Amino acid sequence: MASVQIHDVRKSFGGFEVLHGVTVPIEDGEFVVLVGPSGCGKSTLLRMLAGLEKITAGTISIGERVVNDVQPKERDIAMVFQNYALYPHMTVAQNMGFSLKLRGADQKTIDSKVRRAADILDLGKLLDRYPRQLSGGQRQRVAMGRAIVRDPQVFLFDEPLSNLDAKLRVAMRTEIKELHQRLKTTTVYVTHDQIEAMTMADKIVVMQDGIVEQIGAPLDLYDRPDNKFVAGFIGSPA
Ligand code: ADP
Ligand code: MG
Repeated sequence: MASVQIHDVRKSFGGFEVLHGVTVPIEDGEFVVLVGPSGCGKSTLLRMLAGLEKITAGTISIGERVVNDVQPKERDIAMVFQNYALYPHMTVAQNMGFSLKLRGADQKTIDSKVRRAADILDLGKLLDRYPRQLSGGQRQRVAMGRAIVRDPQVFLFDEPLSNLDAKLRVAMRTEIKELHQRLKTTTVYVTHDQIEAMTMADKIVVMQDGIVEQIGAPLDLYDRPDNKFVAGFIGSPA
């Protein structure tokens, strides 16, 4: 676990600035949800946290360490995407263990970490199955399992539920929250779904057009929005 400091971060693509100085303090163990309309820069910010996108200006620190120039695989971060493609030719266990294998872990360590993640996610009986033999919810849990096995300091989720049907989405929300309560791993979770934000977040960051409009606990934003945009975004149905 670790705190994360995003300080005055800017990002330009080909001279065109899409993030205009974003500052977000994140405490150790906090579940922070980034919300805002499509194109406001949520994924770009997450990708910079993961090290998949270079920061144009500003700093990102994880714990005490400034990570601006640290490679993704040295950041101790695990990311779960919306399109969580599992490897079709690998079993559940192999899917979950693959990133450890890439990092050179021995098979015994891999087996025990996969087993632990499978217990947490209730996948213990499915370890020998292939992705095509799983339901949508089970596949999503395997995708989370791949992140958990690495025991990261920070979890990043980029709209992980947006490809699931409404019922499953509600169930997975609860699962992700329970997972967080259990592991207490610092989490940054991106969604454009207000209900998801309100029900899951310790702290919500409302973004618009590459800036942060407001940061606060769900009820603070609901009761005391700083401006019309925040009021409209938090108050409107998903
Ligand atoms: P969100 O995730 O909030 O929908 P993004 O972070 O994906 O928004 O995008 C923010 C802005 O940056 C958008 O205007 C998008 O077109 C632009 N953008 C994102 N990635 C790139 C890229 N690789 N090259 C050029 N522009 C990009
Ligand atoms: Mg996005």
